[in-house]
Amino acid sequence: MLKVSLASPRGFCSGVRRAVGMVETCLKDYGAPIYVLHEIVHNRHVVADLETKGVVFVENLEDADIARPLIFSAHGVSEAVVQKAQSMGFKTLIDATCPLVEKVHRQIRKYAQEKLNIVVIGKAEHPEIIGTVGQIPDYKQVRVIKKIEDIASLPFDKNDPIGFVTQTTLSVSDTKELIGELQKEYPQFSSLKKDDICYATTNRQAAVRALAQECRMVVILGSKNSSNSKQLQTVALESGAKQAFLIDDKSEFPWESLQSEDSLGISAGASAPEYLVQDLLAELKKHYENIKVRDIIIAKENVTFKK
Ligand code: SF4
Repeated sequence: MLKVSLASPRGFCSGVRRAVGMVETCLKDYGAPIYVLHEIVHNRHVVADLETKGVVFVENLEDADIARPLIFSAHGVSEAVVQKAQSMGFKTLIDATCPLVEKVHRQIRKYAQEKLNIVVIGKAEHPEIIGTVGQIPDYKQVRVIKKIEDIASLPFDKNDPIGFVTQTTLSVSDTKELIGELQKEYPQFSSLKKDDICYATTNRQAAVRALAQECRMVVILGSKNSSNSKQLQTVALESGAKQAFLIDDKSEFPWESLQSEDSLGISAGASAPEYLVQDLLAELKKHYENIKVRDIIIAKENVTFKK
């Protein structure tokens, strides 16, 4: 018998639901084609599905038609990108930035107005961090770090106050540790504020942690460029799973690895649609006559954002 445990919550968060919904509404209102700057969310299936409906994903503003609507992705964009799009004369600009990322944008602008030294914790190359740092383009006293070892390279005076923001999809435990080290190193480090890891990231990591304590093998549905999905794979391995896989869909499922197991944990990143989980379950039921499925529920989510 195969025992399957499903992490709950899993899959789409409210920011992703809102962003995808905004693209679909825009398609209805304006017809195809419409343009989205960068992937609306980091999921291969979501992007491919929208492409079939007439959405064109572009990496540069110059590749979009200014006569058609242009949408900024859920990860947010810099001030410079917004200004450039406005000056190029795009008729319809729609901002699908997650409200929780916008909150981080407001915070970093406030720190800059207060002339604080600013530490941004996250991956410098991730679109969310590019958009966040891009809120204060001319501000010099800002640095991005992603691990404890990076603290040594900060050029700030130890006695000056420091403000910080974080990427919303980081590892909860690693970030806590990093903030603890910053506080030791910089006595004036702002301890009034907590990290900016969002509720959806926190809940999905907690659910995978619980899953990994019961299942030796864990599978995360999500794309390789999805930061929060990759984190779930790491959390699974750190929390007791002997093997954890990040797969886009059932076609990538590692059947050989399952042969020696009698239990399997499944979750999905915040940008992965639920049908991918259900498709995988249906496939598992084809392979196993006897299969028992249960949910491991660690939180109920009722967050919704206005479009
Ligand atoms: S993961 Fe969090 S910050 Fe990112 S889109 Fe979802 S709710 Fe917003």
